[in-house]
Amino acid sequence: MALNSHIEQVLWTEDQISRRVSELASQISDDFRSASPPPVFVGVATGAFLFFADLVRKIDLPIAVDFVRAQSYGSGTQSNGAPTISLDLKVDVKDHHVILVEDIVDTGHTLSSVIAHLKSKGASSVSVCTFLDKPARRKVNVQLVGKGKFYRGFECPDYFVVGYGMDFAELYRNLPYIGVLKPEYYK
Ligand code: 5GP
Ligand code: MG
Ligand code: MG
Repeated sequence: MALNSHIEQVLWTEDQISRRVSELASQISDDFRSASPPPVFVGVATGAFLFFADLVRKIDLPIAVDFVRAQSYGSGTQSNGAPTISLDLKVDVKDHHVILVEDIVDTGHTLSSVIAHLKSKGASSVSVCTFLDKPARRKVNVQLVGKGKFYRGFECPDYFVVGYGMDFAELYRNLPYIGVLKPEYYK
């Protein structure tokens, strides 16, 4: 069966995503134009991989890129507590500005753990660029480091969404847009 037939509702199309990613990239490029050394972009695996790839290609600065992995979610739609860092950086971020790139901020636990980790590695500032933000579900405030800024693509209603990197039970990450699954597939 075709992938599209699993989706009940599309929240953001490929075109809308692409336009918003371009806006974010030019905003960040402008904001960090005079940063020295240039910022390090850190993607949170796996969910941020498509957003990260699209965003960094549009950043008009000589940046370094790397990934971390934070393990928190099981196979369902609920967080299972404070995440741990299960894949660490290769790039040294000490005294560098870091832009942390996430797929979605929900309770804020994942981001808080990763930010604390980057701070402990001596980053001079930590900014966050999340594709989606679900403020209605926030449990912990996101504490940026230094003069870090918060960027977001879109505010997300309180649905469990899939696509553009985001999964349900590791499926649907390859969907090129953001959607909500038909109820029979959330099983
Ligand atoms: P938090 O730690 O902020 O509760 O959750 C962050 C992580 O949970 C995200 O990076 C993402 O991997 C996952 N997550 C939260 N909300 C959603 C959602 O609506 N859809 C999907 N697919 N993953 C989500
Ligand atoms: Mg994530
Ligand atoms: Mg997930």
